Amino acid sequence: MLHITALSQQLPQTGNPIHTVNPLNIKQQDFKKGSLTVFCGSMCSGKSEELIRQVGRFILAGFEVLVFKPSIDNRKILDLELDPLHYIPSRTGSWVNCIPVTSVQDIYETALTSSAHIIAIDEVMFFSSEKDALLSLITSLVKSNKKVLVAGLDLDFRAEPFGIIPELLAYADKVIKLTAICNVCGDDTFCLTQRLVNGQPAHYNDPLIMVGSTEYEPRCRKCHIIKKD
Ligand SMILES: [Zn+2]
Repeated sequence: MLHITALSQQLPQTGNPIHTVNPLNIKQQDFKKGSLTVFCGSMCSGKSEELIRQVGRFILAGFEVLVFKPSIDNRKILDLELDPLHYIPSRTGSWVNCIPVTSVQDIYETALTSSAHIIAIDEVMFFSSEKDALLSLITSLVKSNKKVLVAGLDLDFRAEPFGIIPELLAYADKVIKLTAICNVCGDDTFCLTQRLVNGQPAHYNDPLIMVGSTEYEPRCRKCHIIKKD
């Protein structure tokens, strides 16, 4: 199980300078070029786990890292004593500390004034309502020689491209598409995100983002159902 403390837990409250755990006490120089990497796929495809793994690689190599997630994502997936707002969990047990943010402006104010080499954002599709602002911010960060890592659902529960993700895929230096295993038939070639409301497939006209009495599971194309009646 991989536990990575990327940031002091006090940071979101105090705004103190960023501190990363760097056991080898290496101080890396700035990158000569920035880049954007996108980790995408359905739910349970390992997007957050891959983001955590990549962040961990850079921390161990002595790079400064900033990790953000939208504060709407406060799911308690792991049995940790930490406030779930302040870490990104993976379903296989790894996690990394993060800064919860409510808007792109929050990321902007912290990231552009930071000396961090790596800027990571999980569940990036939740910033789709601020598409232009986020694309502008990411462009600025990449031009400032930062490595930007983002993770998110590429398709929504309707099996349609999710908000800002198509633009991010188009502008990315590198795209890593991950797949889950269908919860119904076990197919492991391609998965969508099935939304269930009271155990039944959701209706096409349901809101794109729903918090509350909904459940999600990965399903292949054949098993994925959207009600349209
Ligand atoms: Zn299936």
